[in-house]
Amino acid sequence: MRRLRIIQSTRMGKVTEVIAERLKEVYGLDVVIDKETFSITPHSFNALRRQHDAIAIVETLSKTKKEDELLLALIDVDVYAPGLNYCFGIAFKGVAVVSTYRLDPRFYGLPYDESLYSERAIKEACHEVGHLLGLKHCNDPKCVMYFSNWIHDTDVKGYVPCARCINKLR
Ligand SMILES: [Zn+2]
Ligand SMILES: [Zn+2]
Repeated sequence: MRRLRIIQSTRMGKVTEVIAERLKEVYGLDVVIDKETFSITPHSFNALRRQHDAIAIVETLSKTKKEDELLLALIDVDVYAPGLNYCFGIAFKGVAVVSTYRLDPRFYGLPYDESLYSERAIKEACHEVGHLLGLKHCNDPKCVMYFSNWIHDTDVKGYVPCARCINKLR
């Protein structure tokens, strides 16, 4: 069984526990949650964009990743990737990063809704970890591996891979 370690920049309590359960359920991973929070290094911050560079965060974290594990970092800052104004997450080198910044309904001027927020975080975590396990983007809008261009795409898709993607995992 592959081991996945979850780290977080701020404590997300129950949301993190639910993410861990879903990742176990969907991918059969052995998931552990780090008790201590970690700090995002300031060098990934782009002052002009007022956002963090997601690639720089992954590069830094990949140095702390152990050989036999996959790493999922839940962060609360806004991130971007090449060619994108923002992104919900990124994954390479055995490290997945999920930003919760734009998953919170308050970001869109709506009242806080814990179940919606945690549902979105589960989907984005299952998407990025899917990449770590070798899955590519899928054109089924209900599949977790569908690329979310904006939050609506995340709300439409589910947290599980479609039958075709499941087959690719095997
Ligand atoms: Zn993706
Ligand atoms: Zn799919």
